[in-house]
This record gives sequence, C-alpha cells and structure tokens, in this order.
Amino acid sequence: MNKKTLKDFDFAGKRVLVRVDFNVPLEGGEVTDNTRIEAALPTIKYLIREEAKVILMSHLGRPGGQVVEELRMDPVGEELANLLGQEVLKADDCIGSEVAEAVSRLDKGGVLLLENTRFHPGEKENDPEFAKELAQNADIFISDAFGAVHRAHASTVGVTEYLPAGAGFLIQRELNSLGKAVENPEKPYAAIIGGAKVSDKMSVIKNILPRCDYLLVGGGIANTFLLAQGYEVGESLVEEDMVDLAREIMSEAESQGKEVVLPIDVVVAEKLEAGSPHKSVPIDEVPADWQIVDSGGPKSIEKYKEILSKCKTITWNGPVGVFEIDEFAKGTMAIAKTLAASEGYTVVGGGESAAAVKKAGVEKEVSHVSTGGGASLQFFEGKPLPGVEALDNLEE
Ligand code: ADP
Ligand code: MG
Repeated sequence: MNKKTLKDFDFAGKRVLVRVDFNVPLEGGEVTDNTRIEAALPTIKYLIREEAKVILMSHLGRPGGQVVEELRMDPVGEELANLLGQEVLKADDCIGSEVAEAVSRLDKGGVLLLENTRFHPGEKENDPEFAKELAQNADIFISDAFGAVHRAHASTVGVTEYLPAGAGFLIQRELNSLGKAVENPEKPYAAIIGGAKVSDKMSVIKNILPRCDYLLVGGGIANTFLLAQGYEVGESLVEEDMVDLAREIMSEAESQGKEVVLPIDVVVAEKLEAGSPHKSVPIDEVPADWQIVDSGGPKSIEKYKEILSKCKTITWNGPVGVFEIDEFAKGTMAIAKTLAASEGYTVVGGGESAAAVKKAGVEKEVSHVSTGGGASLQFFEGKPLPGVEALDNLEE
C-alpha cells in the first residue's frame, strides 16, 4: 500500500481524529456484538501509547440525517471503556462548540467519542462544510473504518481535504489479507461465490475468474446458472435477465480452462420458512412447485470438500443457502468447516458470510474474516475504495 500509515506520523500531544467502524448491533441499549470495537483497539491503543489526544467518530445505523435517540453512541462508549480499561469521554454531537470544548479538556492519551456522524445529512452527502467542521478540532486524521471505506462520505473522504491523513492498523491488515488472496494467490485457488442475487456478484465473478482455478457457484445465484444450463429450478429465486450473462461466464471459464462448479444435488423446500417440508434431491429432480434453498445436498458437499481440500487459497463470498434457517444451513456450515480445516490461506468477505462463519463457530480457524461486508465485496470486484484512495500517499 502506498499510503501513509501510523508509523509515518508523530502523534505526541496531537489531536487525532480517527474514523472507526463502530456500527455495532444494539439491543435494549447494550452492544450485542463488540467484534467491530475490538477490531479498532490496536489503533486506539497505539495512539494512546503515543500520547495522542484520541477523538473517535463513527456512524451507527441509519438515522437518516437527524437525531435518533436509540442510535446514540453512548452504549458504544461504555463498551469501549470496558475493553480499554480507561475512561472514554462522550460528546453529544460530532461538530460544534461542545466538541471543541471537550477536545480542549482532553489529556494526552485521553479518548473522546463523538456522536453518530449520520445525525447530520452532510455525512452521507459528503458536504465539504460539514467535513470542515469535523476536521476543525484535530491535527491529524486516521482512517481505520474498513467497513466504511467503500463510501465517499464526509467522515471517510471529506475530512482528508483538511487534515494530513493516514491508515490505521485495521485498514492495513484488511488490505494485506484480502490482497494476499486476490492479488497474489498461491495456486490452486478456489473462489466460492454465493448469496442471493447474481446482479450483486457479477462484478466479483468477472474480476476473480481470471485469477482462480475453481469457481464454486452456490446459493441463490447458482439457480440462474442452473437455469442457463437448462435445468428446471421450480419456484427458486432466479434472475431471468442474468441468464445470458451466466451462460457467457461459463463459456468464458471454459475457454480459460477454469472449472465452474455448480451444485449436483440441493435441498429443496415447499416454502422459504423454518418448519417447511424439505428434502435433498439430485439437481435434475427439483419439483416444479418447490424451491432450492441450499446448495448443500450430500453429493455437492462431498464435491466441495474434495476440491477445497486440494486448494492453497480459498476465498468465500456469499452463503450457499438460506443459512439463517437451520434446516437450510447444511451447505453453508459445511463450507465454513471445510475452510476452517484447510491448511491453505482462507479468506471470508461479505456480511452474511462472516455471520455464517460465526454461526459455525470457526471464525478463529479461518485465516481472515473481513470486518467490512460492502468494502470487501468492492475489493473482490477490483474497484478502488474511496476512503483509502483519499489518504495521503507515501512520498516516492
Ligand atoms: P454476503 O453478505 O456474504 O456478501 P449476500 O448478501 O450476497 O452475502 O447474500 C446472503 C443471503 O443470500 C443470505 O441472507 C441467504 O439467506 C441468501 N441466500 C443464499 N442462498 C439462497 C437461496 N437458495 N435462495 C434464496 N436466498 C438465498
Ligand atoms: Mg450481504
């Protein structure tokens, strides 16, 4: 990465504005999953040790540009204070005189958490005036919100106009880990692509196909590929307007000598709901009024294991079934466990895929589970991340 990172700055006594991704799930005023807060700790602790005055900002949920009481950052501040074992000051806005005053009271090594940036419409609009106000109380900007760098907002991109800007440890780790798989994979490399919609994943498939040896297409998107091959998919989720593109991709793969792996047998259900009648069937026996809910028929799972066990690199983006419903989670759980057991380099991107890895209880056994759903998807697409591009370049 040719961007400035923490080691390129002298932080002692400086006011450092840090964009973190504290967009965590809340329930009854408590943080129910602190993964994202933990992921930001290395940068925060480093800045504390370097005697910076640490000013943290993040968005939380979708308040739509106005104050929503339930989306205040207070529970996040409490959780952070617990994790750090030190006091975290909290401001009730992210700009204005209250913030200026709180920053002036901040000691070296002290931490201040600003209020939800999305309480202001200027955040998502990347309004330069709002960005200027965010930047006003700081000397240096550090971005560590990997989960937000695919968005050009005031707190991710706008502020870089006004402050020296560099990347924190989380962004560095994410880009290194994702890059190692996508840009320089050790072969053989299998890419597993699933999820609900082909249209969401087409750019990923196009970018990854030339790099990988096996393309495992599963989940909802496999239905459209199966349709393109002439199979009956009953009531399954399909995108008719993507059938031609699916066909093109398969012939492109063939000409590149790549293997596209589609399910051989699948779990079908009468309805997409828990408790619905369901069964495994060979791919050419999908009942006309049922739908495919999981690529994980026993033969498909066997085939996935056989291929993945010989791969030195595996990337996974998109569950291969409706894993949120236990009866339809077999294929997705099998993939998670196969990645965990692999001796190769294994990377998971995408919000639901990361949740599936957690559900399988193997997040520690996968080489890298990205903290950024949308950002990792955009990385897999080979597209630039505006929140990274905007940071200061290292001098050549
Ligand atoms: P990620 O967030 O990992 O990128 P996506 O958002 O693309 O994944 O897709 C995840 C969703 O796809 C899951 O919520 C899952 O229920 C759904 N899905 C997977 N297989 C099917 C299927 N056969 N039919 C309908 N939905 C599916
Ligand atoms: Mg998703």
